[in-house]
Amino acid sequence: MPAKPGSGICPLSASPNCKPSREEKTGPALYIPASSLYVHIPFCKSKCDYCDFFSLPLDTAEIPARYLDAALAEIACHREKGCLAPLKTLYIGGGTPSLFSAAQISRLVSGIAGIVPFEPDCEITLEANPDDIAPPYLDGLRQAEIRRLSLGIQSLSKNALCSVHRRSNAERCLEALDCVRENWPGRLSCDLIAGVPGETPASFLKGLKTLAGYGPEHISLYAITVTEGTSLYRKVKAGLVPNPEELAETLWLAGRDYLEQEGWRQYEVSNFAKPGAECRHNLTYWQSESYIGAGSGAAGTLYRRDGSAFRYTNTTDVSGYLEQQTNREIEEISRETAQFEYLMMGFRTRHGVSSKRFFERFGVPLEKRIGAESGAFAAWEKQGLAAQHNEAAAETRYALTAEGLLFLNRFLEELMD
Ligand code: SF4
Repeated sequence: MPAKPGSGICPLSASPNCKPSREEKTGPALYIPASSLYVHIPFCKSKCDYCDFFSLPLDTAEIPARYLDAALAEIACHREKGCLAPLKTLYIGGGTPSLFSAAQISRLVSGIAGIVPFEPDCEITLEANPDDIAPPYLDGLRQAEIRRLSLGIQSLSKNALCSVHRRSNAERCLEALDCVRENWPGRLSCDLIAGVPGETPASFLKGLKTLAGYGPEHISLYAITVTEGTSLYRKVKAGLVPNPEELAETLWLAGRDYLEQEGWRQYEVSNFAKPGAECRHNLTYWQSESYIGAGSGAAGTLYRRDGSAFRYTNTTDVSGYLEQQTNREIEEISRETAQFEYLMMGFRTRHGVSSKRFFERFGVPLEKRIGAESGAFAAWEKQGLAAQHNEAAAETRYALTAEGLLFLNRFLEELMD
């Protein structure tokens, strides 16, 4: 059951495990409540070789019910504390949320709706593994008010999926896509990774074209990264697998060009959408809006009206989380750091950063901060890697071009100097 108002277990309140937040001392009016909520379901049936997300095997059937109770209790506390405004977006991600039954997902969504109202057009997304997709499950998700399905396809090459130990094989991915297209009335987003070991340039492009043929409104296209601590990293280090990162870049570029040509617009470094189908939840992060994360391993950030922020990260000890949702780390983000993060996130998008919004948040002219007249931005603009767009009399958007986005990190380094 969700915690009763006033039960005092709000994660942002003083507790033996978490320092009192500034809001405890000065009141909630200082910060901007979140209208985006992320719920983390940290369970997977098996671990993919490249994965560095926090996920654990779901080894007992009792966990989902207890986990949902704990997540709802945490969300109730955030609401009680004034951190959650009526929701514009809800994102249930993982891990593999589709390991939970449709009835459990329904209990989660209706439980949240009992705690905090949803805006009428609230974007409600669930991440799913193709292996879990079947007509009754989709029907259950629809009844649970899920409106957007994010399918982890990753590749349509048999060799590639097998080589990184993905649970679903290429055949199951295609069956799931057929099933979604026949039975799913909501939006569809698909994840694809360029450069999965075992993939060839030909198989990658064939897979991308096949996927595009299903017409998902949204496609996230990533280049594989070999991250320390993963199985893939160990295999590359041991020379068992060639480092796939170089080929990944070439494939990613070919994929980007194909998607753009077919009408999916790149609106963020790795994300492509048909007009109007951008992921509103992820835009919350890229626009540095407050968001709440609930669940073991989830993080949230609340921005204050003075431009500073605080961020918390819940414990990754699931048993600890089930007992005590206040077990977390809190990080103070100074106004200067928040300002740089705002640029770092905003410049990931093709929309870029609005001078008006930046000034409203920090009281500092964006032009001055990014060197729009004679500094870093001006130099990039001269090379055709950045552009400014006049939106209205008092608003200009500053953004990197598609070419400029390829060198985002270098641009950010220059902004730091
Ligand atoms: S399914 Fe996703 S979260 Fe789970 S191990 Fe694979 S990549 Fe990681």
